[in-house]
Amino acid sequence: MRITGLMVQYYFTCKRELWFFSRGINFDFENEDMLIGKIIHEEYYDREWKEILLEDIKIDALSTKKGLKVIEIKKSSKLEEPAKWQLKYYLYYLRKAGVEAVGVITYPKEGKREVVKLTEEDIKTLEDALKDIEKIVSSPTPPRPEKKPYCKKCSYRDFCWV
Ligand code: SF4
Repeated sequence: MRITGLMVQYYFTCKRELWFFSRGINFDFENEDMLIGKIIHEEYYDREWKEILLEDIKIDALSTKKGLKVIEIKKSSKLEEPAKWQLKYYLYYLRKAGVEAVGVITYPKEGKREVVKLTEEDIKTLEDALKDIEKIVSSPTPPRPEKKPYCKKCSYRDFCWV
């Protein structure tokens, strides 16, 4: 199964959201946050960075200054933990291809950036997560909703809490 970085981010945000997304039920095109994110990405790509596609994964940018760095650009740090796992997945993916890199998440609107490294423990967590993602996505029904801080702004909330 093709597992993208976004699927990993959804998994660590909400498993139900991952299931909706995997079914192509996607309202994000109406979501203002997504539009702002897109504008930020476009600004940065125009300036200095280029998106990189590697089979299953789409990396925002790579830097080779002082070692290889995978750069992930985010609009806000609201989904900080899931975003870190998305980036760790890219590092894991590259490591499996024999490429060592560190990650940098950058939040241009907040003037914040953070270095992310892949540990042995992270690899175990990711490998379990990847198996679980396959199970969730293959299931004919979504996982039950669970109240999370993200629910208020989630585009699937009407499917969960009406
Ligand atoms: S509303 Fe909450 S439970 Fe439902 S998909 Fe979104 S984050 Fe998950």
